[in-house]
Amino acid sequence: MFCARRIKTLLQDRSLATIVSRMIIYTDAHCHLNPQSENPTIDCRIYSSVRPADWKNAIIISENDDDKNFAAIGIHPWYLADVDTNFESQMIEILTEHPNMMVGEIGLDKFHPDIPHQLEIFVAQLKIAAKLRRPIHLHCVGAWDKILHIFKHYEHTLPPVIVAHNFNGSPDLIQQIAERYNVYFSYSVPHDNSQDITRISTTPPDRILVETDTFDLNDEIDKLDAAISAIALINQSDIDEMSEKIYQNIQRVISYVRSIE
Ligand SMILES: [Zn+2]
Repeated sequence: MFCARRIKTLLQDRSLATIVSRMIIYTDAHCHLNPQSENPTIDCRIYSSVRPADWKNAIIISENDDDKNFAAIGIHPWYLADVDTNFESQMIEILTEHPNMMVGEIGLDKFHPDIPHQLEIFVAQLKIAAKLRRPIHLHCVGAWDKILHIFKHYEHTLPPVIVAHNFNGSPDLIQQIAERYNVYFSYSVPHDNSQDITRISTTPPDRILVETDTFDLNDEIDKLDAAISAIALINQSDIDEMSEKIYQNIQRVISYVRSIE
């Protein structure tokens, strides 16, 4: 039986974290780091935009073409005030010019206003991603019922991959979502509670990603260390093996933008 207290103990054991960190493959499936800063070197990172003002950063990353740093453009449900009437044609133009670019972060958030407008903007971006065959990075808070309704409606015309960033839906949903859709579940450091632990232990290991969601380049590695260590512990796996598995998972997500001619 897994004991939540063990996560805390492991994360507090700095000497152990130092030893294992040499073997960890670092991947960050969702962050907002400024590409013009000297960001830590890690093995794979995906930058997500929240509004059109970020898209120039996404373009800089995509044009860098180092095969480690990838980017997504999109409009987050908190930033609908930034929506331009012709945002769809702008997105299509940028995505077409940058075949290695994804769509995100997009989604629904029940704690923010105007759900009908959120739905309209989300579905518009979902359709663009599906048409151009790009993975999406999904922000969903308290709206999995609506998201699953939309997925069912567009079942045959969904984007090739859905990355559920900071997945915080019910653990009961995970199996059902994973069997039906090509969804990857991305986690930051889990809280020391049964809900977070159950989510991770219920997620198929070949669908787990780790993320920081950070804007702060100084804390990226520490946050990744803590997240991978906790996920490995919950899965009763070696930390280096877990980081390798997560690396293979993010490579599968990226393969959809690598394979576009
Ligand atoms: Zn984010």
